Amino acid sequence: MLKITNLRKSYRGGGCALDGLSLDIGAGMFGLLGPNGAGKSTLMRILASLQLPDSGDISFDNINILDNPLALRRRLGYLPQSFGAYPYIGCRALLFHMARLKGLPENRATASQIDRLINLTNLEAHVSRPVTTFSGGMRQRFGIAQALLGDPSLLILDEPTAGLDPEERLRLYNLLSMLSSDRVVLLSTHIVDDVEQLCRQVAIMIAGRIVTQGPTETLVAEL
Ligand code: ADP
Ligand code: ADP
Repeated sequence: MLKITNLRKSYRGGGCALDGLSLDIGAGMFGLLGPNGAGKSTLMRILASLQLPDSGDISFDNINILDNPLALRRRLGYLPQSFGAYPYIGCRALLFHMARLKGLPENRATASQIDRLINLTNLEAHVSRPVTTFSGGMRQRFGIAQALLGDPSLLILDEPTAGLDPEERLRLYNLLSMLSSDRVVLLSTHIVDDVEQLCRQVAIMIAGRIVTQGPTETLVAEL
């Protein structure tokens, strides 16, 4: 469903972040495992249409993402590695704002979807608090809630467990394992345990390339 072909990206003055990366993935949670600097965030920003590659192709359900970024806007959920937190607005109100930006209608269905997401991410007790006052784990759970707005069929999660303590990490594993397995989820991480807990398939990325790809059981055993 998500097909990435020969993607290249170099930063001015920097090195090569993506060096002819190709990847073909179907429904379910797919792990992108690689050390810092491998190019994971670059790939994810490009998938979220926040950045353009130098060359290559990306299609999702046969729609070319690079040519039609807006076609995917409502079908895409993205959790960036760190997102600007908004100091003056409660997290529930922020979800309404983000829903509007995503083009969701301002109606009862959207309001009840937001309530469901708040429940799912266990933020009921904190709806009026700005995200800036949240702990790391709460922020990541909020990040998942906003990524799920509109029930996207492609979900891009950039290092969702980064900086979490073991207890919050477990909470996030529980939350993520509840997500429907009929959407495409791409989860990047440098932590092997994340992949073992969450992903059936994994690709290992080093220096802008996929070096190997396969079922987590087989691949992680070889590490
Ligand atoms: P990862 O997410 O796997 O840590 P990144 O995509 O952040 O990898 O980075 C890949 C490479 O691109 C690194 O060498 C990094 O230093 C470089 N890089 C990332 N962003 C920029 C930028 N805005 N300007 C210059 N170099 C960058
Ligand atoms: P707070 O407790 O921080 O005031 P609320 O949950 O009451 O946050 O919501 C704040 C804002 O979110 C409201 O001003 C409104 O714009 C929007 N909002 C809340 N509920 C709804 C709803 N059911 N439909 C549309 N917008 C809503």
